[in-house]
Amino acid sequence: MLGRLAKWLRMLGYDVEFMPDVPDIDILRRARAESRLLLTRDTALARRAGSLGVLLHHQELKAQLRELAERGLITGPRPETRCPLCNVPLRPVPKETVVDRVPPYVYQTQDAFYECPRCHRIYWAGTHWQHVQATWRELGWHEDDI
Ligand SMILES: [Zn+2]
Repeated sequence: MLGRLAKWLRMLGYDVEFMPDVPDIDILRRARAESRLLLTRDTALARRAGSLGVLLHHQELKAQLRELAERGLITGPRPETRCPLCNVPLRPVPKETVVDRVPPYVYQTQDAFYECPRCHRIYWAGTHWQHVQATWRELGWHEDDI
């Protein structure tokens, strides 16, 4: 399953649909209808997807990110991050509006907050970015790329 990869790609700002438990034919139709690349670990499905198929060989998240980067399919975090659960671009919200919605320590120590317009979860740099950026550096990319 590529659910974890999908969440990470969304945090990096990529538009990623995730379709678990959906028949291959429906995944193929959706990919073709929207000209989306179809990331899969299933050799047969990747072949059926033709030029849209991207076969991932690794199971581990970082190795998968590296595979995508090596093929030039991801080039770094994009300017607009997305909700890892909804794939909707996050929007900045004024700090005052989240006072009752985040832990007090987070409110005191963070200045920039973002909200998902669909699920209304609040995100901030602490949880959202640091881990992503650390992983990005581990993979040999730099914050200058962000
Ligand atoms: Zn959401």
